[in-house]
Amino acid sequence: MRIGILGAGQLGRMLALAGLPLDTSFSFYDTSGSPTAGIGEIIVDPSSSHEKLNEFLAKIDIATYEFENIPLGLTQEVEKYKPLHPSSKSIRICQNRVEEKKLFAQLGIPTASYKVATSAEELKQAATELGCPVVAKSATDGYDGKGQAVLKSPEDASAAWQSIGHSTLVVESFVEFDREVSMIAVRSRDGDVAFYPMAENVHKDGILRYSIAPAPELNNDVKAVAESYIRDLLNELGHVGVLTLELFVTPRGLLANEMAPRVHNSGHWSMNGAKCSQFENHIRAIAGLPLGDTSAISPTCMINLIGTAGSKEDTLKLPYVHLHMYGKEERAGRKIGHINIVADTYKELIWRVESTIERVPSCPAFECSLTRTVKVQENNGATDS
Ligand code: AMP
Repeated sequence: MRIGILGAGQLGRMLALAGLPLDTSFSFYDTSGSPTAGIGEIIVDPSSSHEKLNEFLAKIDIATYEFENIPLGLTQEVEKYKPLHPSSKSIRICQNRVEEKKLFAQLGIPTASYKVATSAEELKQAATELGCPVVAKSATDGYDGKGQAVLKSPEDASAAWQSIGHSTLVVESFVEFDREVSMIAVRSRDGDVAFYPMAENVHKDGILRYSIAPAPELNNDVKAVAESYIRDLLNELGHVGVLTLELFVTPRGLLANEMAPRVHNSGHWSMNGAKCSQFENHIRAIAGLPLGDTSAISPTCMINLIGTAGSKEDTLKLPYVHLHMYGKEERAGRKIGHINIVADTYKELIWRVESTIERVPSCPAFECSLTRTVKVQENNGATDS
């Protein structure tokens, strides 16, 4: 089967790396003008009229996308000629925070209180009514914390409006969460659904730095609730492929933050830590193949390499390091690769992660619920976790 991917970045690259052994082949359609996938055939077409789309369509049997911020019209055009999984409905909702929030509300999935603002005055009013701090986010085109500002006072509205520079904002109450988690699930063409163990995610400046899976000490009730939320979303969207739901764990339960209609950075751990990775399962789902086993092999941590990777030779001397580079040039703030660490216990995982990040200067200190829990257990005299 010939699979076409809209977008040609690292997610497309990893989809192709997982799909090739299943006897599928890949072509990419890149609208950015700077593809990095480095695998398969890449058609570069930054023209707004999508001049080379027919050339791409002639090479593929089915299509998918690796990123939600591609033009909706492009996905609708592709859909006229080839099966597109997930469909343009998923992208239409997931690329707009207002639509996403409406769907969460329709399905009874709780979120932070929010308002929509279309001017600096409305932003100020929203901040006043919600009570500061609030987080203002561009309704579209935002990712990795881009297009966002935290307002400590309604008086910050004018500067925040200017800095975000977008015509529609979603303004949310600031959530005092215990931790951030994500639920990744995959739905087949026949409607079968499989859930990955949830990951705990550590962000710095809006960018994911570490994911630990299975999220340690996660109550089964919390998992069941997250599974019911994502199942409802998958079914409502008629989604085929992987869907990711990012959530805040708060003392009053889970709050949905946002979702992505695709494989996700917080699922990269599954390449080494799960029986079947999110990438392989996305390909299986869209190609009409049976879904693979989503269960975890062992506790795993994904370490994002942001800006610089340090010395790969040095890092690879550690026998437990799985290195995944994306073929991208080093640049401040850019995701250029990740490392997966698998261990037999969470305690060993912490030790391995800390030993690894000593060799990667761009990594922040490894602090998460796991390090806090283990420290408490150590203080109480427990020997392992
Ligand atoms: P997002 O692009 O919506 O995923 O936001 C990026 C990161 O900003 C999240 O992973 C959180 O760490 C933080 N963040 C986003 N929204 C909120 C909120 N309402 N309250 C507190 N932190 C938030």
